[in-house]
Amino acid sequence: MDYDVIIVGASIAGCTAATQYGRAGLRVALLERHRSPQAHKTLCGHFILGGTHDVLHRLGFWQPMLDRGAAVTTGLGVWTDAGWIKPVDGVPPAISLRRSKLDPLLREIAAATPGVDLLMGHRVTGLVENGVVTDAGTTLRARLVVGADGHHSTVARLAGVPEDVAPNERFLFWAYYEGAELNGPGDGQVWQLDPDIAVCVQADDGLTLVGVFPAKERLAEFADDRLAAFDGFVARLPDGPSLYGAHRVSNLVGTTDYPCVRRDPVPRPWLALIGDAATASDPVPAVGCGWAFRSAAWLADSTAGPLRDGGDLGRALRRYRRAHRFIDKYDDLGRQDALATPPNALQRAIRTAAVTDPWIARRLAAFGMRAEAPSVLLNPGVVVRALLAG
Ligand SMILES: Cc1cc2nc3c(=O)[nH]c(=O)nc-3n(C[C@H](O)[C@H](O)[C@H](O)COP(=O)(O)OP(=O)(O)OC[C@H]3O[C@@H](n4cnc5c(N)ncnc54)[C@H](O)[C@@H]3O)c2cc1C
Repeated sequence: MDYDVIIVGASIAGCTAATQYGRAGLRVALLERHRSPQAHKTLCGHFILGGTHDVLHRLGFWQPMLDRGAAVTTGLGVWTDAGWIKPVDGVPPAISLRRSKLDPLLREIAAATPGVDLLMGHRVTGLVENGVVTDAGTTLRARLVVGADGHHSTVARLAGVPEDVAPNERFLFWAYYEGAELNGPGDGQVWQLDPDIAVCVQADDGLTLVGVFPAKERLAEFADDRLAAFDGFVARLPDGPSLYGAHRVSNLVGTTDYPCVRRDPVPRPWLALIGDAATASDPVPAVGCGWAFRSAAWLADSTAGPLRDGGDLGRALRRYRRAHRFIDKYDDLGRQDALATPPNALQRAIRTAAVTDPWIARRLAAFGMRAEAPSVLLNPGVVVRALLAG
């Protein structure tokens, strides 16, 4: 074998896994189709939920992200038609660093890790058992191949992995501002406008990201003059950001269609998928970067030992698949929300109760930050308390 592990895709998931495998003493090929180490994903709001905080700390990524100017959000205010849900203590902070800085940083860390060969400009175009073929015609082999190649995963397609696709009934646009003033509670805000959603959060270098995620029935409004429709939407937000003295420093970024895609994270005994290649969720709740970091960490945690010591890889991969169920459960719920249907009676009751009940507000925030399993919110105790409050 040429390597212990071959990882296809040197972005969030791929660099995270490569760094961990390298630190565990393994020989890793990290292949990236782009030539420039500065290449980065542009279609990403890069708000990394608090549930990722521990993994970022453990891997030593948190401080370097802060050093590059990342913004930390300690508590989001959530607007509902029953009032503001105010931030509460006891929920880990989120972090935001634009991908133009994050992707090169993660590549730098991976490339500096002994044992990791970062091979830029190597596009994978073929798959063989225990190996990949690059566009230069080179075949590389390893005990484990990892697809970290994103939403449209070539690795998954070449392996014939079935896709479970679900519709997304919202579209997304955002822009970055200098000098925006927030007017709602917390150091960032979310508006639950049912079915539309909007956000206003801090990004690196003192920028503010303002985003609107309307239901697709409003697409026509955004067809002629997208910027005017965006500005009008933001101006009507209750306690929305003050943008009069602010300066918009970007074009609108976004997409009008982004279906959710899910694949088996362990499709072959020698092949695993991490990040978007396994689960590309609805972007609206901002889960994808966190899932990429966490799924990569879970895979490396499960398999590095057996790969190094010649242990049972099949068993280790089953452990990874079990860990991945955390994401699958949230993705099931996220797919329901992505339909942009009105909230049901229980969702309404929980939100309304959270406006006045900090105990429920904390559970709602832990759920929103994906800091605990969905049962932190979806359990009989919360349901009874919310219904009694109503
Ligand atoms: C509109 C939008 C907004 C979003 N906003 C947020 C947000 O605010 N917060 C959040 O957490 N998530 C957000 N996401 C999701 C987030 O962007 C993804 O979940 C995240 O990028 C997944 O990381 P990844 O490493 O799995 O894949 P990617 O970042 O897509 O990286 C895949 C890598 O593989 C490389 N590659 C692909 N094919 C090959 C090949 N054949 N050979 C070699 N290399 C290859 C690519 O060049 C790339 O470097 C958003 C997504 C969208 C679409």
